[in-house]
Amino acid sequence: MKIADKIRKFTPYHTIEGNYTIWLDKNENPFDIPPPLKKKLFEKLTKVPLNRYGSLNNTALREKLATFWNTRGNFSELDEKNIVVGAGSDELLSLLIPLFQGDYVVISSPAFSMYRFFADLYEIPVVDVPLDEEFQLQNVAEFAENAKAIFICSPHNPTGVVQDWKTIKQVLDTGVPVILDEAYGGFSKHSHIHRINEYDNLIVLRTFSKAFGLAGIRVGYAVTTKEITKHLLRIQAPYTISVLSSKIAEFMLDHYEIVNKRLDYIIKERERIRKEFNEYAFPSNANFLLVNLDAHDFLLNKGIVVKNLKGRLAGMIRITIGKKEENDKLIDALQEFIREKR
Ligand code: PMP
Repeated sequence: MKIADKIRKFTPYHTIEGNYTIWLDKNENPFDIPPPLKKKLFEKLTKVPLNRYGSLNNTALREKLATFWNTRGNFSELDEKNIVVGAGSDELLSLLIPLFQGDYVVISSPAFSMYRFFADLYEIPVVDVPLDEEFQLQNVAEFAENAKAIFICSPHNPTGVVQDWKTIKQVLDTGVPVILDEAYGGFSKHSHIHRINEYDNLIVLRTFSKAFGLAGIRVGYAVTTKEITKHLLRIQAPYTISVLSSKIAEFMLDHYEIVNKRLDYIIKERERIRKEFNEYAFPSNANFLLVNLDAHDFLLNKGIVVKNLKGRLAGMIRITIGKKEENDKLIDALQEFIREKR
């Protein structure tokens, strides 16, 4: 037996595991579904047959998502044929990367690691056009020719920056497929989902993992043209989303008021932490802060897990906004770190 060379050399996704007390490393929502509502949800789930596969193309959830965006977005022409749901937006990334004709994909570092992960897995070359000093896109349109797809993340992970519409438009105007990753779109007012009416090369990725607080159920979705949807569905393995996950996502769409309430809390807490570390923290439009302090190991020793950044952001950390009491402990520990450093 011989494992393929490319697999032998492959860098797997890495995350810290262990017995720590405060987890602020994965940009999760600190709030689970409130217990009375969770009970109601689980009572509903007892009626879901587990011996049967779910709907092949998750029609009910896609219809609900279309209605959700038609009532909340500023357009009303979306239907389920514009939406593909996946086992997290990660699964959709794995389908989008090989979907289009071309020689390479374009990313802008510092970039979410799964773009390169899937490109490497499929042996698709990656062209990196780094973000500028303000973490805005630069010159990406120049690399459009022969590109399979261009990735834009806004709000951007791990900086929290929203990309200017003017620049996004320049990239869209090249006609090359643009995968606009709005995983953190729920925390900002800058969604471009409605622009799929104007651009037939736009794919917007969203997820239930962040603002909706459902990272554990693994559901994400792409909003795009009916043509791209059709081809995505052709290559998606059947039933990748469990019947339970799709029902939970539907349930949460019916209880959006909870999501909204938590958003206000998280944004308020984010600004509270940012003020405390004004000198070190970058402004953010997401549920995390990029902080220019090399405090990862120091915090870990105190049981607080944050994301340690590498490459161009080496020496910085990304802190997910937690519950108030968790944030208080984080603030105390970081202040201690700064005092010790001085
Ligand atoms: N895109 C970005 C920018 C992310 O940060 C993440 C999660 N960390 C994802 C996509 C994937 O999210 P999920 O698979 O949970 O939907």
